[in-house]
Amino acid sequence: MTRIFTSDIRDDCRKDRPDPYPVHILDRVDRPTTAIHDNKIQRVDERDGGFQRAGKGEYGEKLKKEYGRFIGKHPLSGALCTMGGALGHMVDEPMKLKQAGRSPWNTSFWPPMPDTSDDIAPGTDDPKTNAWHIKETAYFLRADIVGICKLPQYAVFSHSKHKGKKVELNHKYAISIVVDQDWRTASAFNGSDWISNSMSFLAYAGSGYIACILADYIRRLGYPARSHHAMNYKVVVPPILLWSGIGEMSRMGDVVINPFLGPRYKAAVVTTDMPLEIDRPIDFGLQDFCSKCGKCAEMCPSQAISYGDKIMHNGYEKWPNDVKKCTSMRVGNPNGSGCGTCIKVCPWNKPFTPFHRTVNWFLRKFPSTRKFGIWCDDLLGYHKPNYKQKWWLDLDQVDGRFVTPKKSGYTKKR
Ligand code: SF4
Ligand code: SF4
Repeated sequence: MTRIFTSDIRDDCRKDRPDPYPVHILDRVDRPTTAIHDNKIQRVDERDGGFQRAGKGEYGEKLKKEYGRFIGKHPLSGALCTMGGALGHMVDEPMKLKQAGRSPWNTSFWPPMPDTSDDIAPGTDDPKTNAWHIKETAYFLRADIVGICKLPQYAVFSHSKHKGKKVELNHKYAISIVVDQDWRTASAFNGSDWISNSMSFLAYAGSGYIACILADYIRRLGYPARSHHAMNYKVVVPPILLWSGIGEMSRMGDVVINPFLGPRYKAAVVTTDMPLEIDRPIDFGLQDFCSKCGKCAEMCPSQAISYGDKIMHNGYEKWPNDVKKCTSMRVGNPNGSGCGTCIKVCPWNKPFTPFHRTVNWFLRKFPSTRKFGIWCDDLLGYHKPNYKQKWWLDLDQVDGRFVTPKKSGYTKKR
């Protein structure tokens, strides 16, 4: 079993760039590989998201009830979500909270904020040097992949899920911080069993932790900055991932796939006015690959993913997905905690071994190899759980007590 952490590949890959993964070998393009009609996009109201709707009871009373317990029904995802929730208070100038007496914690140990109102820290005025340094800092904090783009205004929510407050955000740049959900665990789960939510919240809490520290650091250098993570976003993440060169839009709908991690990650964002050199979008052939594959659509337990062609929706070219079906499965899954079956079965969900790096290169460079690659992926059974690697406890909280569930996930035959 190969277990790959970013730190394992760091020395191997870095020579003249900050990134541990070889993002410099990817083909760069001027615009994302799926059309974005900037002037036709209506800013999104965060309250219209699937989870918010489920919580409000728009998908039925049963799901509304499940929404109250679906994360905490497994103790590990409950613990991870608690940490993510604590970070929700740390997104923007925690020192101001302290001064206003609204901080939820004893903040006497917090280092005072320097007075940078008229000044910036020396050596932080060059965009290229700053971009390199900010990436190095994010990797030091244990990010897996980092990309930078200009912040498009259409990627800012119109209203927040927190009391429907109108969202204003005029920062110039957005830094995407990507954290892997862990390959070993992904190889062992069947997609919709008792570890799925924990994998999500590991990466949500981890990327949120990095984003909160990075934003605070940038503010201490003299520039405005705000972190955005699962407990407190002001931005819609997929367009930011596209423009900052993290990945391409996939058949899964709003899921942006990275060539090295596949869909097996979550992202937080830092927005700022610090001058930064931006990255360009990438093209690794995913539009062609997804049009030939469709494995996620076939294996999705709720059939929320389209088998058909892309459509235009709110100015974005994308494969449509049924948010209600997906949310109902993730919130209401009676045989597991959440669902990540599409993440599990996607052929881009692989470890970063020499073998997979070679296959990855062929799939990116030669469209004619893709059908064969998909066929081999099926044959080798990568979509099946490798239970030898299973390490977690199957637990379900029923009426406030943990019990061992009778079933675990929905494994579809293929
Ligand atoms: S998370 Fe599960 S239900 Fe939602 S699209 Fe993926 S496979 Fe389908
Ligand atoms: S499983 Fe196949 S079709 Fe679905 S996102 Fe992955 S590559 Fe695309």
